Amino acid sequence: MSATDPDCLFCKIVAGEIPATIVASDERTVTFMDINPATRGHALVIPRAHARDLLEIDPDDLAAVAQAGQHMARTAKATLRADGINLINSCGADAWQTVFHFHLHVIPRYRDDPLQLPWVPGPGDMDQIQATGLELKEHYA
Ligand code: 5GP
Ligand code: ZN
Repeated sequence: MSATDPDCLFCKIVAGEIPATIVASDERTVTFMDINPATRGHALVIPRAHARDLLEIDPDDLAAVAQAGQHMARTAKATLRADGINLINSCGADAWQTVFHFHLHVIPRYRDDPLQLPWVPGPGDMDQIQATGLELKEHYA
């Protein structure tokens, strides 16, 4: 029996206590349609076991979610004729996480779809990029 949180919305979806449009499931994961889709076919992949976020999820569950996400991405591309896919995970409220049961967004993209993600890439400061990379490298255990 996986860990569950009785107050967690997605644990209730796993348990079948609230309805969801489930596309696929396996021993470790459930894939279902997002109720507020960013584009046609927007799905969420979650572990059956409750884990708050990327920092807490069991690595084997994370691997299973990644594989299910790839399967869903291939299915969306073939079935819905998606032109591309965004995989998104938000970890923490400051990173836009709103439901605190780990989930991977699988968002099919269509040429000229109106979806805007609030990130405009621009050139960085090379000294700062290298210094931050070095700092991370030193602490990467
Ligand atoms: P987050 O903002 O945490 O990255 O993503 C949470 C996602 O869960 C949102 O895209 C939201 O639309 C979706 N969501 C919230 N409540 C429900 C629900 O009751 N059912 C389904 N299927 N999706 C939900
Ligand atoms: Zn949960």
